[in-house]
Amino acid sequence: MHPPCIICLEDSNILTQGICSKCFMFFRRVVNEKRMRRCVSPCEEKRVGSPSFCRYCRLQKILDAGIIIEDHITWNEKILDSRYWKTLGKRLEGITNDSQFFVLLLLQRYQREIHQNYNTSLISDYEVGVVKINQKTYRCAKPSDVNLTLHIGFRNAIDFANQFPCFRNLGIERKRLIFAEFGIAYLLIDQAFKTARMTDDAFWFLQNGTFLHPSCFFGITNGVSPVQYDAPTQARYHCEFVNGLLNEIKTPFSNLEIDAMECVFLKTLLLFAASFIQRVNVEESKEIVSRCLMRLMEYTIKKSPIDGMVRYGEIVMLIGSIRCAIKSFYNQTTVSNVFHQSNFDLFVRGSFPT
Ligand SMILES: [Zn+2]
Ligand SMILES: [Zn+2]
Repeated sequence: MHPPCIICLEDSNILTQGICSKCFMFFRRVVNEKRMRRCVSPCEEKRVGSPSFCRYCRLQKILDAGIIIEDHITWNEKILDSRYWKTLGKRLEGITNDSQFFVLLLLQRYQREIHQNYNTSLISDYEVGVVKINQKTYRCAKPSDVNLTLHIGFRNAIDFANQFPCFRNLGIERKRLIFAEFGIAYLLIDQAFKTARMTDDAFWFLQNGTFLHPSCFFGITNGVSPVQYDAPTQARYHCEFVNGLLNEIKTPFSNLEIDAMECVFLKTLLLFAASFIQRVNVEESKEIVSRCLMRLMEYTIKKSPIDGMVRYGEIVMLIGSIRCAIKSFYNQTTVSNVFHQSNFDLFVRGSFPT
């Protein structure tokens, strides 16, 4: 016998990630709803039957548990056979003549389209930390948003890295070491890409459309704090961290208008620049890195014939900034309630260095 579903605690027919098919179907159905009647805890609705709490509470439980939809529609080559992706592939043809990087571009596009599914569900204008940008409503990220975006980021990074045969063949422990670094790099690039397109103001956007802001810190609750710093100290660390992301990554991403193809090159370089992978697959990673740099150079020169070389240099320099940001990120998990590991689900915790 399976243990019962971690959400409704009733059904034992587990479909995925510890939850039953009914809860999973419910999640798929409602995750796109823009408005939902809020509920004050403890749940007011006294319902008989399954589950015994309201829709709002059920969705909150699922989000807090870090359940994601991708598990069931994970990337594979078959997706490329569908009409939508064939048409898109045609449209993007010629962006690079290297088929390996072209497939990675489509994969990234696929992942970013799925990120839309998580956008702005459950926002009411009256919540704290809600702002309007270009008529749309956005919410300040909560610990569960940080967890969700880490979860999505790590999964996306794994799918991306698995496109390289030399990576696929590594053992689990080695992969873990690589992902501790590359997983964060991967999600920072996706966030920077999104952030650079949203607004010039001091917002840093996560993949699900929630944001971090230097002066907006909601990490203090009445409960026990998992980190040893008081509220003002945490708020100060938060401010420094977000400003670092904005100055070191968002600014160059906006100034250079980094595009999707360049994101793919950056991700590839960061995967093979990960301190660990170089030691295991020397020949293969050398080949990929030099091919990637060459394709990037061809690409930037084609994109801006006059100063393509300068652009190339500036993009390569971004690797250093992103690696610094990875360090700040891990530092943040020890000084801030919002980023503390106790908020993370098992998958995310398992992806972290120990
Ligand atoms: Zn259930
Ligand atoms: Zn409720």
